[in-house]
Amino acid sequence: MKKTLTSRQLKKEKAIVIGGGIAGLLTARVLSDHYEEVMIVERDELPQEPSIRPGTPQSFHPHRILSRGNMIMERFFPGYVDDLLNKGAPSTQNEKIILFTPYGSLEMVTPEKIASSSRALLEWTFRKRVQKISNVRFLSKLEVIGLQTSDNQSQVTGVHIKERSGQKQERTVAVDLVVDTSGRFSKIIKWLEAMELEVPQPERLKVSLGYSTRYYHVPPHVKEKWGGVISEAQPTKGIGTGMLGYIEENMAQTLLFSAGGVHYPSTNPEEYEKELQTLATPIIAEVVKELEPIGAPRGYRTPESVRQHFEQMEDWPSGLLVLGDALCNFDPIYGQGMTLAAIEAEMLDICLSEQRHTPQPNFERKVLQRMQEAIEPAWWLSSIADLRWKGVEHVGAEPLKGVSFAQKYIDLYVKQAVKRANEKNDPTMFLQYFMMNGLVLSPREIINASTLNMLLTGAETLEEKQLLAELGNIDQKQIQERLNELIPSFSLAVDEKA
Ligand SMILES: Cc1cc2nc3c(=O)[nH]c(=O)nc-3n(C[C@H](O)[C@H](O)[C@H](O)COP(=O)(O)OP(=O)(O)OC[C@H]3O[C@@H](n4cnc5c(N)ncnc54)[C@H](O)[C@@H]3O)c2cc1C
Repeated sequence: MKKTLTSRQLKKEKAIVIGGGIAGLLTARVLSDHYEEVMIVERDELPQEPSIRPGTPQSFHPHRILSRGNMIMERFFPGYVDDLLNKGAPSTQNEKIILFTPYGSLEMVTPEKIASSSRALLEWTFRKRVQKISNVRFLSKLEVIGLQTSDNQSQVTGVHIKERSGQKQERTVAVDLVVDTSGRFSKIIKWLEAMELEVPQPERLKVSLGYSTRYYHVPPHVKEKWGGVISEAQPTKGIGTGMLGYIEENMAQTLLFSAGGVHYPSTNPEEYEKELQTLATPIIAEVVKELEPIGAPRGYRTPESVRQHFEQMEDWPSGLLVLGDALCNFDPIYGQGMTLAAIEAEMLDICLSEQRHTPQPNFERKVLQRMQEAIEPAWWLSSIADLRWKGVEHVGAEPLKGVSFAQKYIDLYVKQAVKRANEKNDPTMFLQYFMMNGLVLSPREIINASTLNMLLTGAETLEEKQLLAELGNIDQKQIQERLNELIPSFSLAVDEKA
């Protein structure tokens, strides 16, 4: 008999979170409202100061928080932005950002107050908050090496853990819920297979992406002169993305990115400086001449982004959930990972509250189904963007919907949004686009019949003709219907905000 969480049990039971990264900390924060005792098992030693841990090497690279992520993080950790600002992280509010799109440049002033910090400082800030929650305990320098299950393997009943130093002793901790947030290199597939479960093939975006990041000291006059810079990729020309942003301790981070596996950004300091000059704008290369480099650039490469589809498993065990990068990881250039961790944590909170009031069977599988709805816009948006690079391929049981149409639509949209912002001083269209990429607005708010009619000026430009060709031979009344066929509905993706 599968055991399902009931309202009576929820307040009493123990939960364990595997991994103390961003997803783990947000998850523990949520679970602390629903479980009597919450443990976070982290294989690293917890640093006393913000620092890059061996378990999260990606912390070296810039970590942006999207608008939606910031809203949720403020909800779970009220005042966390002020904590970061007090630690010296600059605020994005009223910061001038120059954005270079393939259709011209745009100067934006960000209205939102988001702290621009290193990932290490952000994680440290969250951890300090979680450490103050009385029913949460950290078990550090311990690695989860397997799951304990019921005899018939239909239920996860605990985790097997091993010390990472000293005697390397092993023990088992019995709990009522295990949440795996152990990141991109999670062993969850191995553990599920050990339970003789058949795991469906995940969706894969074979992206072959490369990052290279360098740090600099920033003299005060430079920050006054230059805000952040984003130089968007132009994949058809083989031009990568470049970014310049400021973080705590008067430091700047620059990054170079490309996908498709033909060229990876260099980590050699001289070559790196040269590559900055080959971006769509030479501005970042100009600014760094006024900065003092801190060490050499450091790279990051990954062959693919992976979206698991555990929700398809009818025999998914009770007592087990998976969140964060372990469930779905993204091309980091779009800055979605931590925001998705926040969205999933919020979704878990909603599901646990509903379960307390109206207990349902197969709770865990239903949670995984709803996580997919939350993941869909981010996965779709980043995939259609990456599929512009030659060599990038989507592999999945179902093809990704509307790729070619959406690419052409977004091109036309951005072109007009930039024009309108610059020529008419009206940034509304661009802000809508920004909010879609910030996962606040559903892609359907941008891609719909009325916006399409606005985009089609009748000028019969090549872009408009190509977009119309994607729609096929239809009349005006059929446009929305055709869009419904082409584009995912995203119907449940954005409407569960608190
Ligand atoms: C180069 C790069 C740049 C990125 N930039 C951004 C960005 O700009 N914005 C953004 O939102 N996201 C970004 N991301 C993604 C972001 O890092 C993650 O999506 C986010 O931190 C959520 O990760 P997580 O908590 O699921 O996993 P992680 O942060 O990887 O944490 C997993 C944790 O689990 C621990 N662990 C692993 N296995 C075990 C085990 N068996 N037992 C115990 N502990 C274990 C690890 O030590 C680690 O602490 C970037 C990622 C990369 C690679």
